[in-house]
Amino acid sequence: MKKIFKKKLIIIYLIILFIVVIVNIFYLYLSSSLKITGKNNIEINYGEKYKDEGATFKIFKSNLSKKIKVKTNINYEKIGKYKITYSAKYLIFNIKKERIVNIIDSKPPTIILKGENQINVCPDSIYKEVGYKAIDEYDGDITDKVKKNIDGHGNIIYEVSDSSGNKTSIKRKIETKDNESPKIKLKGNSTIYIRLNTNYQDYGYEVTDNCDDLPKVEVINNLDTARLGTYTITYKAIDSSNNTSSITRNIIVYDDKKEGIVYLTFDDGPSGTGSTEKILNVLKNHGVKATFFVTSNGPDSLITRAYNEGHKIALHTSTHKYSYVYASVDNYFEDLKTVQNRVYRLTGEYSKIIRFPGGSNNTVSNRYSNGIMDILTKEVIKEGYSYFDWNVSSGDAGECSTPECVYNNVINGLSKNRINVILMHDIKMFTADALDNIIEYCKLNGYTFKAIDETTYPVRFK
Ligand code: ZN
Repeated sequence: MKKIFKKKLIIIYLIILFIVVIVNIFYLYLSSSLKITGKNNIEINYGEKYKDEGATFKIFKSNLSKKIKVKTNINYEKIGKYKITYSAKYLIFNIKKERIVNIIDSKPPTIILKGENQINVCPDSIYKEVGYKAIDEYDGDITDKVKKNIDGHGNIIYEVSDSSGNKTSIKRKIETKDNESPKIKLKGNSTIYIRLNTNYQDYGYEVTDNCDDLPKVEVINNLDTARLGTYTITYKAIDSSNNTSSITRNIIVYDDKKEGIVYLTFDDGPSGTGSTEKILNVLKNHGVKATFFVTSNGPDSLITRAYNEGHKIALHTSTHKYSYVYASVDNYFEDLKTVQNRVYRLTGEYSKIIRFPGGSNNTVSNRYSNGIMDILTKEVIKEGYSYFDWNVSSGDAGECSTPECVYNNVINGLSKNRINVILMHDIKMFTADALDNIIEYCKLNGYTFKAIDETTYPVRFK
């Protein structure tokens, strides 16, 4: 009895064991039927996205892939390891597979230097940090983690690591040298007129330098106030690294005590109607030199003739249209350069002596650009021109229409105690007709004639 019972028990055990083995084998089969497509371990960089390739589940030739449930906890905002779980149910079994997605930060941070990558530092001074910034795609602003070191050549090495250990370093070259020139500026005007035999008092200069407190200035000066002429004073600034810069001032020594000099000046020509030609003939007969402030009008040949006969060709205006010339500073200079080019073409000289249409104090110009004369009178000087107005008006552009009227205005305006700049217009025949008598009068009364040149004291309204 006992023996039979024992035998039955063994059989039951064997049956249970058999079932367990079968179930396990079946489970293994099911488990191997759930297959992950692609790699089980995926590594992507922060900022990238993983596109799931999914999984398949096939049992005994039937495709049950649609039954797969996919779950994931991926957070793309944070680096780390994440799971994608694929699960499927079959009978009483629940099959699971996992894929690992590892989000890593392999990109090094970036260091941005403010200012130049190479900086020159003045001798005897140290570099003052201009600034920098460190940005990591994952960590954000990590400027506070930047370490600064100085290498053997005095350069600065900026170094930073992000939270994943990615390192960046950048160098700022520091050179101890000064290659910037000092800056020197004149006090007072760049052209100064002084009378013959008077003392010249220099207005001085202002000088600054990036490194030196007070750079050296050499003043080169051959001014002789006892001789008429144009002199140049050169101010040369030199810093302790021998960088130089210089600036000049023109000193014009003039003589207004030479009593009774007459400058005959003619505007608006040349004219092809005969008046300019007549004026040139009269001047030639008397051996007198005059000044012609020309326009773009009239024949070239008259300018050439006047130049060849020793007269000064100066610049008036190309168009003589107030509405254009005085509409803007640009217009003014464009117009002036046009007539300057004409004179250059005919004489080979870039004349720098000018007369504003209407004179420097004309108010007509305000109609086209209010206050433009204040600007232009300064600008032309800056550009190296010298402008002339007049102190004797012939009236030939206004009240006069006869030679007698012009003659009377001129001789009544003359003064022996100064230089006389007479305004006339060579486009007027009655002016040409008056000229011979005017010159006769001047000669009889001890006046002398001159053409304007660069040393002539500029008679100006403003
Ligand atoms: Zn004019």
